Amino acid sequence: MNRYWSNLVSALDPYTPGEQPRDQQYIKLNTNESPFPPSPRVSEALQSFDSSRLARYPDPESRELVIALANRHQLQPDQVFVGNGSDEVLAHCFQAFFKQTMSILFPDISYSFYPVYCSLFQIEYRQPALDENFRVHLEDYYTDNGGIIIPNPNAPTGIALELADIRSLLSRNRDSVVIIDEAYVDFGAQSACQLINEFDNLLVVQTFSKSRSLAGIRIGYACGNPLLIEGLQRVKNSFNSYPISSLNQAAAIASVEDEEYFQEGCQKIINNRSHLSQQLESLGFSVLPSSANFVFAEHASKKAEDLYLQLKEQGILVRYFNKPRIGNHLRISVGSETENAALLEALRVILG
Ligand SMILES: *Cc1c(COP(=O)(O)O)cnc(C)c1O
Repeated sequence: MNRYWSNLVSALDPYTPGEQPRDQQYIKLNTNESPFPPSPRVSEALQSFDSSRLARYPDPESRELVIALANRHQLQPDQVFVGNGSDEVLAHCFQAFFKQTMSILFPDISYSFYPVYCSLFQIEYRQPALDENFRVHLEDYYTDNGGIIIPNPNAPTGIALELADIRSLLSRNRDSVVIIDEAYVDFGAQSACQLINEFDNLLVVQTFSKSRSLAGIRIGYACGNPLLIEGLQRVKNSFNSYPISSLNQAAAIASVEDEEYFQEGCQKIINNRSHLSQQLESLGFSVLPSSANFVFAEHASKKAEDLYLQLKEQGILVRYFNKPRIGNHLRISVGSETENAALLEALRVILG
């Protein structure tokens, strides 16, 4: 508390990002980054970048990147909006579409940034509970609302909705914006991008941070009807008109152009995930069926918090949430084969 803070700032309860420690080298399985480097084309693009370009402001609309993304998703450029990380894109979405008289809806267990945006932008929300298997109960969303946001696959459960479910959700909600946060979609779920031409209230948000190994450059984007995209541009141009640096734009385009490397990387994670899940189960964990680059697991006898602390002592970071319903689960990012092997070995020692 400080007497210079506004009432709004005093009341905030900001998002706590996963630890990014600088004190020692950890095996980092706590923030769902990729264990692999980005496409070699990204480093070529960075190395050949003409630094004299940095004297100028970048293209405010990131047109080249927008076109590359539109082509990749078989959309038109006016159906794509790019921002400085999907967190920023989501913030613009909340401001553009969710400040309504009715409450918005998102699951009780989902991305913990959503309630933070609600308090920053003073948006009312309700959180329908996931069922006992941690699945979204769709009927809870068949009600009047000021907007809906659901991660697909959900975080931190990793469980995905089918495309048919998202279609039902959209068919039953024609009067508010429905946002599908697809941060993890490339690891085995179906993208709702193919429904965009059918539903003018659908916005799909994706990121370069997970499946493209580019968390460090902060690029995210939204796909949807041109009028929704225009709404986002209005917010962006009232906040920061040059969000993407020219250097980052060049790196992002190079990544999108290397579809083969991208697909291979996703497939490696999917393979490593199934091996990791099996091994965790053999150590006494129950593991939710994941379509993401992490698994959500609970041990039969050992407390999650103790496991988290003991792993940390051994130089391995995983994510532990001290929260209702999920306080005995660990969220473990799928690492490289070596990292996963080190995690499993440490768990064998801890569990005896
Ligand atoms: C990681 C994540 C994001 C944010 O990604 P950035 O593009 O790095 O800001 C958004 N939504 C969910 C569900 C995430 O897990």
